Amino acid sequence: MEKVLQVNDLHVSFKTYGGEVKAVRGVTFDLYKGETLAIVGESGCGKSVTSQSIMRLIPDPPGKITNGSILFNNQDLTRITEKEMRSIRGSDISMIFQDPMTALNPTLTVGDQIMEGILQHEKISRSDAKKKALEMLDLVGIPSPQIRLKQYPHQFSGGMRQRIVIAMALVCEPEILIADEPTTALDVTIQAQILDLFKDIQHKTGVSIILITHDLGVVAQVADRIAVMYAGKIVEAGTRREIFYRPQHPYTKGLLNSVPRLDLESGDLEPIAGSPPDLFSPPEGCPFAARCEYAMEVCDKAYPFQTSLTKDHRVECWLQDERAQKMLASMK
Ligand code: SF4
Ligand code: MG
Repeated sequence: MEKVLQVNDLHVSFKTYGGEVKAVRGVTFDLYKGETLAIVGESGCGKSVTSQSIMRLIPDPPGKITNGSILFNNQDLTRITEKEMRSIRGSDISMIFQDPMTALNPTLTVGDQIMEGILQHEKISRSDAKKKALEMLDLVGIPSPQIRLKQYPHQFSGGMRQRIVIAMALVCEPEILIADEPTTALDVTIQAQILDLFKDIQHKTGVSIILITHDLGVVAQVADRIAVMYAGKIVEAGTRREIFYRPQHPYTKGLLNSVPRLDLESGDLEPIAGSPPDLFSPPEGCPFAARCEYAMEVCDKAYPFQTSLTKDHRVECWLQDERAQKMLASMK
């Protein structure tokens, strides 16, 4: 399968009064053409920082990509100029956020806002841009596009506004769409509709999607592959089936146990006890050790190597690694 994006050993830090926060600590993944990759983890795990790095939206200072590369169309996005990045951002790689209202300008019609992106990036007449905006409203399932084009954001419901934001993100026909918690602000029925819309759009346009979420339930519906992040690292990655039916990392298992399921009473949900480590001074060993019921001596001493279980399935946990004992012995 064709790779549209390759993130390799990405490290991102933020300088604060309290010291340097190592928010992303060696993240590696590929994105294939036409797939949905979900990046899942608790708040503060580095998933949003990873996506903002791809868009080069990390405020520098205080943030900085300190290592690694992000390859897109044979260019390393960490090395190109801001001017070069501006022609990619919104055009080849688009992003939508949790709250549609922050992305929409209340004083402009939705038609003008959808057209703005394409007029900025492409040499196109206003009437062609308008045609394109109408197509987009139709693509995202907004009825009566001719009338809706002339209306303002407040004239739409929350779910419809998120559809407009998606239309704005797609107007330049990007290769990659990054959606950061795109349904978190919406109620459950509307969430499901928006997730269906992503699948539908992907089917029609072939866009590759990176879906950032804390909610494994959201992922079950749309992701082809899933990367689970914890304390700035991808601790497990695999196909949706592998992650849901054969999870190997204790943290992934914990996340799965905390997802509401139809076959369980809600009382059976078990949130993972404890909290993630402080990323000012991340532990030498496995960052999940303090919360892990399987933690062994080696876990506190050294970070686990990556173990490949299948072509797509990889995990970073000493339980899966026969080198664990040897490692421990070598450190004594
Ligand atoms: Fe638990 Fe050790 Fe695996 Fe970390 S490496 S998840 S502490 S068993
Ligand atoms: Mg976030």
